[in-house]
Amino acid sequence: MGFNTDLDMAQSYYVATAHEAPARPTLAGVVDADLVVVGAGATGLSAALHAAERGQKTVVLEGGKVGWGASGRNGGQMIPGLRKGATDLVALYGPARAKALFDLALEARDLVGELIARHGIDCDFRETGHLLGAVKAGDVAHLQAEVKCLKDVMGYDQAEFLTATQARAQVDTPYHGGLLDRRGGHMHTLNYTLGLARAAEAAGVTIYENSAATALTQGAGVRIATAGGAVSARHAVLAGDAHLTGLLPRANNRIMPVANYVVTTEPLPQIAALFPTDVAVSDTRFVVNYYRRTVDGRILFGGGERYTPQPPKDIAGFVRPFLEKTFPGLKGVKLDHAWGGLVSVTTSRLPHVGREGNVYFAHGYSGMGAILSTLGGKLVAEAVTGQTERFDLFAAVEPMPFPGGMALRGPLHVLGMLWYALRDRI
Ligand SMILES: Cc1cc2nc3c(=O)[nH]c(=O)nc-3n(C[C@H](O)[C@H](O)[C@H](O)COP(=O)(O)OP(=O)(O)OC[C@H]3O[C@@H](n4cnc5c(N)ncnc54)[C@H](O)[C@@H]3O)c2cc1C
Repeated sequence: MGFNTDLDMAQSYYVATAHEAPARPTLAGVVDADLVVVGAGATGLSAALHAAERGQKTVVLEGGKVGWGASGRNGGQMIPGLRKGATDLVALYGPARAKALFDLALEARDLVGELIARHGIDCDFRETGHLLGAVKAGDVAHLQAEVKCLKDVMGYDQAEFLTATQARAQVDTPYHGGLLDRRGGHMHTLNYTLGLARAAEAAGVTIYENSAATALTQGAGVRIATAGGAVSARHAVLAGDAHLTGLLPRANNRIMPVANYVVTTEPLPQIAALFPTDVAVSDTRFVVNYYRRTVDGRILFGGGERYTPQPPKDIAGFVRPFLEKTFPGLKGVKLDHAWGGLVSVTTSRLPHVGREGNVYFAHGYSGMGAILSTLGGKLVAEAVTGQTERFDLFAAVEPMPFPGGMALRGPLHVLGMLWYALRDRI
């Protein structure tokens, strides 16, 4: 669809506060490897790290720089589970399969915590919980049903329902109630991704930047070409998520890119009163508002999405009304950073994990990939090295392609999304 988010990355809070990263080479010439990974976001880097730890000679090709995609731009909200809620999962797949999927997804949270600890990744990691705020009175019953299902069917006791008053003690904005997940939290997503890259390199992975994969051919193995060279390998992993185009139609036609925008305020003296527990927050709108405080006392706020390739001319002005509606006391607050990125959504809102021949992919986390992407990469690394059981759990729930495939995935689905987005305003 030709989304171009190059320019807005530069205005990001994450870039302004990123740790220094080494200059990495551009691929020149032909290289042999066991595994070639396309994309240096959390999916690709986790796949590379875990494959290298399993003895695979691994090369990563990144079209921009490490963390250039959603992994270096997102809201930093660590939300345990999947975009599809527990009650929906049970209704669709029955209790046993729903629990197996949920348990696997939950592992993402532990995995990210372990990697941060094991590799000493300095990324403002906060284990302060995640609150899902009920925007409408009618959402309360659903959140209560979710908590009950999480407890009774999933055996998960870290989620609790909060009344409106209890929710207000977490964040100073009025909700009708909320679902507090104590295993949630938040982090500096670009520094996390840069840390993963360092960990992968320490395990022997070579990362090439400014090396976009332009062609893929499969025979006995896989060959991936860039403008300046090629990698021949036994297996490939496509981890380009919303930015992926052209290399494998089966992967592309099940994900749709949606542009999402984020701002930070200036540091606020009243930040502790607004977020007494430092919780990460999102809400029940179809076009979700998500926000949290940063370690330097700002609000980092994402809200509003667009289904067209053109970013708004004034990103800060586009997001401001969502922020000011949530915190009316902040009307006119100075916004220091504003940027955008691409989220990839699937028709089922479950990740799209699978393989075609020797090419594996994991993407389409539908807005919940900040931690799921690290798990997706690990599952792919397991599968590449012959351990497919857990990978197959997700591969078996492959989302439907977008109606009309690549050509129509935009127009038809966009109409549906716009309709749902409109309902947020009613
Ligand atoms: C604005 C925004 C806010 C979000 N907020 C949250 C949140 O708060 N919580 C949450 O759970 N999720 C959130 N998400 C979703 C989450 O960020 C993603 O699901 C996750 O980061 C995906 O990781 P990834 O590694 O699969 O993809 P990415 O991080 O996008 O990485 C893909 C990489 O592949 C590269 N690439 C693509 N094609 C090629 C090619 N042909 N050759 C070489 N390289 C290529 C790209 O340059 C990119 O660096 C948000 C996303 C956005 C955009």
